[in-house]
Amino acid sequence: MKVFSIAIHGGAGTLVKGMMTPELEARYKLALKIALDAGYKVLDDGKSSIEAVEIAVKLLEDSPLFNAGKGSVFTAEGTHEMDAAIMDGKSLNAGAISLITGIKNPVSLAKDVMEKSEHVFLAGEGAMQFAKELDYKFEDDHYFYDEFRYNQWQEIKDTDNFQLDHSTKKDSKFGTVGAVACDQDGNIAAATSTGGMTNKKWGRVGDSPMIGAGNYANNKTCAVSCTGSGEFFIRGVVAYDVSCLMEHKGLSLQEASEEVIHKRVLEINGDGGLIAIDAQGNITMPFNTEGMYRACKSSGGKEDISIYK
Ligand code: ASP
Repeated sequence: MKVFSIAIHGGAGTLVKGMMTPELEARYKLALKIALDAGYKVLDDGKSSIEAVEIAVKLLEDSPLFNAGKGSVFTAEGTHEMDAAIMDGKSLNAGAISLITGIKNPVSLAKDVMEKSEHVFLAGEGAMQFAKELDYKFEDDHYFYDEFRYNQWQEIKDTDNFQLDHSTKKDSKFGTVGAVACDQDGNIAAATSTGGMTNKKWGRVGDSPMIGAGNYANNKTCAVSCTGSGEFFIRGVVAYDVSCLMEHKGLSLQEASEEVIHKRVLEINGDGGLIAIDAQGNITMPFNTEGMYRACKSSGGKEDISIYK
């Protein structure tokens, strides 16, 4: 049987080490394990990498611990605007949505854009209309309310500041979520979902829903999901850059990922990390921040759930 594997992340914005309690660490690791095991089971059952990354990201979106779906941060208006993307490395089909509110699982809406529309990227009101036409259920604000997130917003609400979860400030704790997987047929896929940054305004959109920036998959090279300061990941076209270094320079998955995160992103002062997989099931998870919530499991027997270096 062919090797199959999955990797997930819950953002490169971990609590600084001194603030992490054993109880909280256990909660994060459990949430990661639940998502990892669910994605792995899909692969073990012989289903596709697309199905595996969707289920893993959905479960991370359902956890209040991460900045996506239920745990999404507050915008400057006190709302939640979510972005997500999914990409199939076999067909290069992709779907993405941004600036949506009230949707429990943005990753599923991105998948529906890929499978049920002729488009790749829908935003704002139009994306919401698309969801309505597919009979999506809309959650009220209460579903997305989280006290920690609310207080995080209150601290900077009336300022021009915005806050990324992976900055090293004392309370920068949550993060974007993502998954990459390689199924038994050697097809790979990537999915990413986020609430963006606290106090964001003007319809700010980060790298997460942008194909090639925060999310990318191509069977020929790799599937990548990023987390970090989105503006830099957009400018660095980070996910596609990893793929390009493999395709055009012949670097391995690990070499390409490390070159991008430890060199190219740093050169433009960006911080964050990524998870990446290739069609042989190899996985790498580099980051240039203090930590990154991450986990991986492969049919070869390897399993890892980690937060710090
Ligand atoms: N990349 C995300 C964004 O800029 C944030 C994150 O990864 O935490 O929207």
